[in-house]
Order: sequence, then structure tokens, then C-alpha cells
Amino acid sequence: MKKGLLIILSGPSGVGKGTLRKHIIKDRSLNLVYSISMTTRAPRNREVDGVDYYFVSKEEFQRNIDRDNFLEHAEFVGNRYGTPKSYVEDLRNQGKNVFLEIEIKGATQVMNKVKDDGVVSIFLVPPSLEALEARIRKRKTESDEVIKERLAKGKSEMNQSSNYQYVVVNDRVKRASNEIIKIIKERIKQNEEK
Ligand code: 5GP
Repeated sequence: MKKGLLIILSGPSGVGKGTLRKHIIKDRSLNLVYSISMTTRAPRNREVDGVDYYFVSKEEFQRNIDRDNFLEHAEFVGNRYGTPKSYVEDLRNQGKNVFLEIEIKGATQVMNKVKDDGVVSIFLVPPSLEALEARIRKRKTESDEVIKERLAKGKSEMNQSSNYQYVVVNDRVKRASNEIIKIIKERIKQNEEK
């Protein structure tokens, strides 16, 4: 059986990675499995443990680092986030295409670590900085201070796109999702023809 792809969707904070991911995952023909991350962040309103994230204590997160359980991990605005390593590998070995939606430092770690040609790296950008700011403010899930921090971070992260195989502009959810779906379909085809 062919090893599945490892699809990395990254981009500045607030660009809308999560929204696109939810659309893309619904396309059954892509054979995607979303890699659920571990985080020390508290759950937001409707988030469910084991669905959106594995919500863990700082101690438990550290234990997972010590045991080398993460493919990558990073701190983001005061919280830690990590991708469980064995889960990703097992699923890829079962032929599933694994989908990571992660911030930029973590994405860089994965791209440096996983060198096989099944890696598909996609950088999502907003149509403009104003659009990014509007999105972050609209979310209303964080305090003013956290919003400001996320915004500053998002702006400084915009110039990272050259490390990625694909850059997609998130102008409209449907259009951008379709562009990413098309990229994934092409790469699935190439992977099968190998
Ligand atoms: P949020 O707190 O808004 O859910 O996530 C903050 C940022 O962390 C987002 O950019 C999200 O994509 C990213 N993120 C989520 N899970 C992981 C992970 O496992 N590793 C890394 N490096 N970033 C993650």
C-alpha cells in the first residue's frame, strides 16, 4: 500500500486556516484524516476535548515532550501546541492522507524533519493586512491584549511563504478551499502513479 500524504496547512494567525480545514476535511474523496493536536490552551466555547484538541495540563504536555512523542511542538501566544508523532506515522502507513493545521514554527519543524516526497506544504495568506485584522477582531474569543498579540504576530509572519510548495490566498472560503482541494487531488494522483 502507498504511504499517505502529509499535508501541512499553515499561515499567519487569524488567516482562517481552521475554517478552511473544516471545509476541506468534508471532501471524502481526499481520504483525509485530521491530526488532532495537543494543547495547553483552555477550550473555547464549543470546543470538545478529543475532537478539536486534546486539552492537557502544562505538566502533561511537558511529559509528552520528554518522551519524544511530538512530531513538532511550538509555543504560540502563551500556550503550547504539538502534533502527536505516532498517530501521524501510523495513519500515513495505513495509506491515509494526514492533514496538519499548524502555526509556522511547527510547520518549519515538520518540513525540516520529514523529507519524503509525500509532504505537501501550503501557506495560506489573507488578501490584505486589513482583512487579517478584521478577522482576528471578529473572532471575539480573546481579550484585547491577546488579540493585539495575535495581530502583531500575524503581520510579522506574512513573509514566510517562500518556504512552502504552494501559496493560497484566502479571499473567499469556498474558492480557497477548492484551490486547496485541487492541489491535494493532484498530489494524490502523483502519489498513486509513483
Ligand atoms: P488556536 O489557539 O487559535 O486554536 O491556535 C493557535 C495557532 O496554533 C493556530 O495558528 C493553529 O493553527 C496552531 N496550532 C494548532 N495545533 C497546532 C500544533 O499541533 N502545532 C503547532 N505548531 N501549531 C498548532
